[in-house]
Amino acid sequence: MLAGLKKVFPCLACGKVLCSKASLKRHVADKHASRQEEYRCAICERVYCSRNSLMTHIYTYHKTRPTMLLPPPPHHAPPPPATHSDVKF
Ligand SMILES: [Zn+2]
Ligand SMILES: [Zn+2]
Repeated sequence: MLAGLKKVFPCLACGKVLCSKASLKRHVADKHASRQEEYRCAICERVYCSRNSLMTHIYTYHKTRPTMLLPPPPHHAPPPPATHSDVKF
């Protein structure tokens, strides 16, 4: 007889395995609360809590340059020179 085959509860967000549903819920609330900023992989939707971890994941697992997945940096045009226009009537 096979006894003690425990069911595990993997976190869908980070892959961490919890031993009970309650633990999983607490883990998700603790680590993946909606308020917390998260970095989601655009390819497999895995979520990381830091940008660096996500970049490493993308580069390691998808063999893709993370920069290709990111929007191009905003191209800020220099502000127009201030014009001292003394409008007098
Ligand atoms: Zn998790
Ligand atoms: Zn991924």
